[in-house]
Amino acid sequence: MSAVPPYPWQNATWRQLAQARAVGRLGHALLLVGPAGLGKGAFAQSLAQALLCEAPTGEGSPCGRCRPCHLVEAGTHPDLMRLAPEEPGKPITVDDVRNWRARSGLTAQLGGNKVAIVAPADAMNASAANSLLKVLEEPTPDTTQILVTAAPHRLPATIRSRCQRIEFGAPATEATLGWLQAQRPAAPVELCLQLAGGAPLAALALAEPAVVQARTRCVGQFAAVAEGRENPVKVAEEWLAADFDRLLDWIGGWLADLVRLRGGGRAARLHNPDQAAIFQALAARVDSKVLFGLVDQWVQTRRAAASNLNRQLVLESLLTRWAAALPKASHRPT
Ligand SMILES: [Zn+2]
Repeated sequence: MSAVPPYPWQNATWRQLAQARAVGRLGHALLLVGPAGLGKGAFAQSLAQALLCEAPTGEGSPCGRCRPCHLVEAGTHPDLMRLAPEEPGKPITVDDVRNWRARSGLTAQLGGNKVAIVAPADAMNASAANSLLKVLEEPTPDTTQILVTAAPHRLPATIRSRCQRIEFGAPATEATLGWLQAQRPAAPVELCLQLAGGAPLAALALAEPAVVQARTRCVGQFAAVAEGRENPVKVAEEWLAADFDRLLDWIGGWLADLVRLRGGGRAARLHNPDQAAIFQALAARVDSKVLFGLVDQWVQTRRAAASNLNRQLVLESLLTRWAAALPKASHRPT
């Protein structure tokens, strides 16, 4: 049986829900809310298994041995439905929700509970959300809807108000460092956790050796573009192959550090403390107007990132602007 809850930093939340269930106070609609990288999806899966298990333990965990448990783990339980986009960026459609509405109105095939996991719930388009609202307004017995989202504000207020909200926050660093170290013994896990804003699974992805190397290389290229040693268009072309959202995060962290250092901030408080020397050297010479123009451009890009951006143009334009950030050596008196 897989661990329950799936990650150690979820223990308190799990206990809270198990207790609510034990006294019959677990809602028929749950909204799991919190930033990406905390394992909300895996938590939802474990919770669904606990709801479908024939013999949950005293702590409310699934037994891992009964037929429903096996079917959940195999992904073939007939009374567990996953509503998810066909591929990332696509919506959850009204047909998906109608399918669930029809099923939730029928008797459970295994005679127990029926559970739907809607993840990410903010991927529902307007008609899908409307359709789900009807299910939430007229709950069927023995039916639970588990909605998972990092962006609850994108859900209609009518849906949010009908759900029991369960908050997932970034856990305390001490709670996750040991876990991260066990997964990636050779990686700079403390730095990765900081870069990931405290989200352990996002930190785990950053701690991949290839990602650690890529980040160091990108910082070096970023500095080289400002110093006129690398061509911004060529660097943009290379960066296109990287994970775009992660790259945007990195660039945001670099710009934030430059702003902080420019304002007299201490190196110890940086997003990128391991690269402090590079950013200190850049911050000492950077043109404030160019820097703040870049920050504005980055904010706009981040806002638009969900829609269809021309990523090559975005990176070229950011880097070309950045290439003008330092006074060039040729202007120095000889
Ligand atoms: Zn079981």
